[in-house]
Amino acid sequence: MAKYEIEKSWDEWRKELSPDEFSVLREHGTEPPGSSPLDKTYDPGTYVCAGCGTPLFSSDHKYDSGSGWPSFYQPIGDGAVGTSTDFKLFYPRTEIHCAKCGGHMGHMFKDGPKPTGQRYCINGAALKFKPK
Ligand code: FE
Repeated sequence: MAKYEIEKSWDEWRKELSPDEFSVLREHGTEPPGSSPLDKTYDPGTYVCAGCGTPLFSSDHKYDSGSGWPSFYQPIGDGAVGTSTDFKLFYPRTEIHCAKCGGHMGHMFKDGPKPTGQRYCINGAALKFKPK
């Protein structure tokens, strides 16, 4: 049984994705802060998974966290993203991924603004912006 609705082999993803997209989505890489043009984008629209095109975040929930990564206080809807616990650093973090293809997005921290208090810290390379 497949873990995700959309599953592809390592080689298929590598062919379809840019090197930066592949690094983040499939290898859990982190782009350098401030490197994504989406960090400072606040136009109305939808942020979709760069791997499978599923809508994951909305400009309605985007804010400037000052971190250098696109930041949202919630996903676009229930079930759009999945979470796991990441032990790559010395403390556990909540990892965020696309619920449909499993592509790694970033992490969620509990120092976000109202109304959720959550900060979804997302790699711009994992997203594509669709203007309204
Ligand atoms: Fe996806």
